[in-house]
This record gives sequence, C-alpha cells and structure tokens, in this order.
Amino acid sequence: MTSPFESPDFPAPIPEAEQRTLDACFLGPYGENDSLLERLVVEFLRDHVHWRRNFHPEDPPAIPTRASQHPAYQAFEARMRNELHQLSAALKRSVPFHSPRYVGHMVSDLLLPGLAAQILTLPYNPNNVTEDAAPVTLRLEMQAGLQLARMLGWPDDPKRPDCAIGHLTSGGTLANFQSLRLALALKGFPVALRAAGVPDPALPEDDWQAFNCGPAAGIELLGKWRRWLAGQSPEDRTRWRARVEGRRIEHLGLHAFFERHPTLRPPVVLAPITAHYSWSKGIKMIGLGRDQLRLVAARGMRLCPEALEEALAACERDRQPVLMAVGVLGTTEYGTIDPIAAVVDARARFGARGLGFSIHVDAAWGGYLTTLFRHPDGRLRTLDEVRQDYRQFPMPEIHAAFAALERVDSVTIDPHKLAYLPYGAGAFVCRDHRAMSLLTEQADYVFDSADSAGDALDHRHFGQFIPEGSKPGAMAAAVYVAHRVLPLDHANFGLIPRHTVQAAEAFQERAERFARETADHVHAIVPFPPDSNLVCLALNPRGNRDLARANAFLQRIHARLNSDPAQPIQIKQFFASTTSIRPAVLGLADMHRILDALGIDPATMAEEGGADRLFILRHTLMNPYLIDHENRISFIDRYFQYLKTCVEHA
Ligand SMILES: *Cc1c(COP(=O)(O)O)cnc(C)c1O
Repeated sequence: MTSPFESPDFPAPIPEAEQRTLDACFLGPYGENDSLLERLVVEFLRDHVHWRRNFHPEDPPAIPTRASQHPAYQAFEARMRNELHQLSAALKRSVPFHSPRYVGHMVSDLLLPGLAAQILTLPYNPNNVTEDAAPVTLRLEMQAGLQLARMLGWPDDPKRPDCAIGHLTSGGTLANFQSLRLALALKGFPVALRAAGVPDPALPEDDWQAFNCGPAAGIELLGKWRRWLAGQSPEDRTRWRARVEGRRIEHLGLHAFFERHPTLRPPVVLAPITAHYSWSKGIKMIGLGRDQLRLVAARGMRLCPEALEEALAACERDRQPVLMAVGVLGTTEYGTIDPIAAVVDARARFGARGLGFSIHVDAAWGGYLTTLFRHPDGRLRTLDEVRQDYRQFPMPEIHAAFAALERVDSVTIDPHKLAYLPYGAGAFVCRDHRAMSLLTEQADYVFDSADSAGDALDHRHFGQFIPEGSKPGAMAAAVYVAHRVLPLDHANFGLIPRHTVQAAEAFQERAERFARETADHVHAIVPFPPDSNLVCLALNPRGNRDLARANAFLQRIHARLNSDPAQPIQIKQFFASTTSIRPAVLGLADMHRILDALGIDPATMAEEGGADRLFILRHTLMNPYLIDHENRISFIDRYFQYLKTCVEHA
C-alpha cells in the first residue's frame, strides 16, 4: 500500500530481522506493544506481591478483607481515584515525545527493557546510597558503570588495578559536577602530601609542580602513599593520615588552601563556548567562580584546537593552573562533536612541559553514539567499517574524536537521553577507579590493604563518593537491564543510533530539497553540517535583509511547532525546537557566511532588539519511526511539507 504522501526517494527497507528487533524495543507510536508491556507489568507486580507473602507466610494478613467495605476506606479510595483521574487527565496535555511527529528536544519514546525494569523494581524501593538498603541494585549500578566503561574502550575487569568505575547521577549536570570535584581532589592531593612532609624522595619538588603534575601522576602518588602508609605502625598511620587529610584542599577550603600556598592560584576550567550551562553551575558548586570558567572559541560549532592551544599557552605563561579541559561529544544545541583527539594531544604536550590537567568529555548527549564505533568484542571499528551504513557519517574527524575517548580521564553520559530511559539517569564514568577514593567522606580508604585493587571499586562504598545521598535503585536496574538486553556495541544497541543518524542524513537531504522547492519564497539552509543526529535549519523570507525581521519570521513559524499548554496537543501537526547562533559562539566569519547565504545584511546585527543572534530551527532526530517502512510514510517528508505551509502562512 502506498501513501499519497510517499516521497519518490523513499529509503530502501531495512533488513527484516533488524526491523523486528527495533519493533520490540519501544511501546511504539501507536502503543503497538501495549499488551507486551502490560503482561510484563502485571506479571512482575504479582511476582512482587508473592515475594511479600512469602517473606513470612506465617504472618496473617494485617489488613482485613472487610476493611475495603468501610466507608472511611471507600472515601479514601474515592479521593485517591479522583486525584489520579485528574492527574491522568492533566497529563494528556503532555508533550507527545513518543510520536515521529516530535523532532524537538532530546527525548523520544522509552526503551521497554529499561521501563519494565524500572517499574518492576519500584515497589522494592531500593536506595542505592548504601548496600544495606540496596543489596541487589547497588551491584547493578556498578555493573552499569562498567558496561559504559567497556563501551568507551576502558579497562572493565575489576581485577585490574586500573579498572574504570562509573556510577549514576540524577543527570548530566551532576555528572559534570562530579568530574570537577574529582579533578580538584586529584589536583590538590600531591600538594597536601608535600605540605604534610611525607618522607618520600620522589615527591614533586615544589608546590607548582605538585599542583600541576597531572591526574596520572596524582594517582600514582596516591598509590605510593597508601602503600607507604600500610607499612607504618597503627599509631603512626593514624597520625600521618590526619596530617595529610588536614592539608587537603577539601579540608582547608579553597581560601585557606591558596593562602598556605602562595605560589598557586585557583585553577581554571577550559570549556568550549558551546558547552552546556551545567558547567557554569558546576564551577560555582565547587566553590570557584564564573571567572574561572574560560570559554574557548569554536569553529563550525566545534572546539577550535588553535584557540585551546592559545588558552593553554597563556595559562602556562601566566602561571595559571588549569583544573580541566572539557570536550563536548554532541553539543546540546547543535549536536556537534569536539576534536577530542586534539584536546588529548594538547594535554600530552603541555603536561610534558609541566602544565598538567584533567580531561573530561561531556558526552551527556552523544555518549551512546559510541556504540556505533564498537565491535561486540570491544575493538574499535575502523572509519571504513562505520561508514558502510551511511551517506557521509562519520567524517574522519568524528571517528577520531570517538577513538580518542580511550585517552580521556572521565566522561558524562546520560542514559535518559540517547539510551531512551526515563528521566533521572545520568552517568559519571572515570577511567581509573583509584582516583575516586579521594572523594570519600571518611578517609578509611587508606586503611584497606594497600595492594588491593582499591576500595573505590567496591560498590559498598558508593554512598561515600557520589554527589547525591539517597537515590533510586530502580534507575540502576533500568540502565543495567537495558544494557544487558542491548549490549553497547554496533551490532546490538547500535541498531537504534544507526537509525537515528540515517534519519538525520535523510532529513538533511530533504532539507536541501525543501530549500530548492521553496526558493521562490525563502532562503533555507542547513547552517553547518550535522555531526550526529541533530539538524538545524535557518530560514529567511526572500527579499528581507534585516536580521530582526528574519528572527520574527522564524518565531512565527516556530509558534506552530512548539507545545502550547493552553491548547490541546492534537492541534499541533509537528514539534520542533529552536536555538540561536551568535557571532561569539560561531565566529564572525561563519556568522557572515550564514547571513550571506540567507540574504541577510550582517550590518543589521545589533546589540539590541533581538538582533544580536540568528534564531534557527533545531531538530533532534531520535524517534525510530521517523521513516515508517510498514506504511511507507516518511514523517521527515511530511514535516517538510508542513513546514512549507508554515512558511507560506508566515
Ligand atoms: C543535557 C546535557 C547536559 C545536562 O544534562 P542533564 O541530564 O539535563 O542534567 C550537559 N551537557 C550536555 C552536552 C547535554 O546535552
């Protein structure tokens, strides 16, 4: 059956087995898998109830059967039902993330294995702050961290002394914060060792060297210190431990620490100007200020390696310590991917000259795209291997960025974004778990047998070093089960991002056709080539030269494409989001190139009146049914047909 909307260049069908696997992944745009989810929920709810009963079956039911006949019980039930009905009715105004008509923000349908695992676990209510309260799910959280580490190409065998570690957070914001905390602890620790007068001839010579020796040397010093400590008598051990602890930055606070070490200054964080605003939040949370967050210029919405080089050279010259360089793997606004390999290379060069710092990759969005680059046996897929599945993706520099993940110190990944899990799931993954013991609240880490692989890897200690306290074990179960059902490699989980990247390529192509078809009315361009599955579109009515008017035009179009709480959602045909591009982020040359292509006079850029930036449409292509092969409907095609009518109206 063909649809009247069918486009002549409808994509070739995908292999049947692949399509059917995908079909089992989600509840589906129409709720097609309702009975599957219902069976799972009912089955495991019953299972839970049996578990309750079988705990001590000799205990009789405390709630009598007749209780439900009492008016007070019934009044309570009525109130509860009433409220639930109102809630359920109100929720009908929610944004239809599940629909292939939704190409707005970074959210889509939910992955069934994760959703079912979460629902299954909820009534057990495990609290992953400690093993006492989560004997099962804490272990799953640690496993989920190792699953992510393996995906990144890091050591994931807990028997290895340098095994990676990962834990969940409420989201990417807290995972980024955790990376700052860890980097600061690791940076300050060698200074504390020196200040305590620990008798080790191999300690850095002065404060500057100690503060800038870099994370690998810091971890090594930590290990040596622990081994040394283990050889002391119990009294000496306690005394030395207290001496070092009392000189750490975490103990003294930033002010007293830098007062005691006058050759040092509070360190800066170098992040691309495209970085998420969680970095601004995070830098304040660790007690530094916005002034210590140095935003590095981007080119084509990717961190510019020369600008990073310049920033580092300036720090070196001014004896300004650097806490961390941040690379973004999939920017929130544009989906662009920073040259991680260049960041790693810059660290090697500056580190060798005595300016050591940590590297964190904010892959809250793009983290799971790494599955596209991994063989099931853990090897990296070559550029040519990955390329087979796409028209253009990945550009060689994108492949290089993913390959370089192996050499960074820590990574943020959001399971609640590209792993299609319910909100409340971010992850912080650290390449060498030994560093994490510096975050523990109690310093008993130094008491463990000095040559053990390290206590931090022991999941029982999780509560000691996570930024949160109590947290949902159900979330850990969801992430773990999703990773088990769809292992994090291209042959399994990769199925999903492969479809979304293919959809993004189809979208870009269709956008170019849209531009040709509507050329009489508007200038339409994809302002920069998408690196992943986010595609932006800039529009300007023909004849208009004024930036503010172009923005007003785009806002009128977007008004038809956004969610409006005052209206029933069914009125909306499609959902898209907007973002803006500013010369400060894009660079003046690129800004001019884009304005020129749109026929806008760059001289109409102004500080005031909303003309300091260009508003553009932003499309996140996550939904697995954007191209519905079953009904031969391309929602991408339909979106552009609709956009055409929006343009005509605007
Ligand atoms: C979404 C996002 C964050 C923040 O993550 P939350 O889960 O919203 O806290 C940070 N960095 C990037 C690149 C993101 O895309």
